[in-house]
Amino acid sequence: MEENLKKYDISFVGLKEGIHVYNYKIGKEFFTDFINADSVFEDGDIDVELQLEKSSTMLVLMFSIKGILNVECDVCMDPLALNISNDFRQICKFSDKVFTDSDDEVTAIPLSDYEINVARFIYEFIHLCVPAKMIHQDGECNDKIKDIVSQYLLTEKPELETESEENENVDPRWAALKELKNKN
Ligand SMILES: [Zn+2]
Repeated sequence: MEENLKKYDISFVGLKEGIHVYNYKIGKEFFTDFINADSVFEDGDIDVELQLEKSSTMLVLMFSIKGILNVECDVCMDPLALNISNDFRQICKFSDKVFTDSDDEVTAIPLSDYEINVARFIYEFIHLCVPAKMIHQDGECNDKIKDIVSQYLLTEKPELETESEENENVDPRWAALKELKNKN
């Protein structure tokens, strides 16, 4: 595990049962230093509050994610400050059993482990905050580029494109996420 991820380590063995709160500031270094080539996002200003509830059998992690993610507009490709805000729950059971993919919300922590790193969860949940289309609000797109882009699309993609074809194109963000999951 990379050095700059250490601050996302939580040593749960020494924690009392009950709720513990952690706060993280997610910025550029989170995406560039930590996730590097894998990340489709590069910059942002995001607050993450984590409420961790420890019991004898599991950890229940409640992530509250709120802030701005700097992305590119899907239409005009100009910078877009995307407001994101959402809550996510992750349950980590103390178990040597490997859980199947049927329930993503529940994962296992091997009984020999004493700490957990929450950076991956934060990274995945930030992705889940992002809408399928990232577009400026009405009238805020860069019209000049928008025109060029739409002209390009018209010449490159005549009206043949059907919905099923569109579905075959895997969104690169999800592809990256899938790859991350497979690494775990
Ligand atoms: Zn735009």
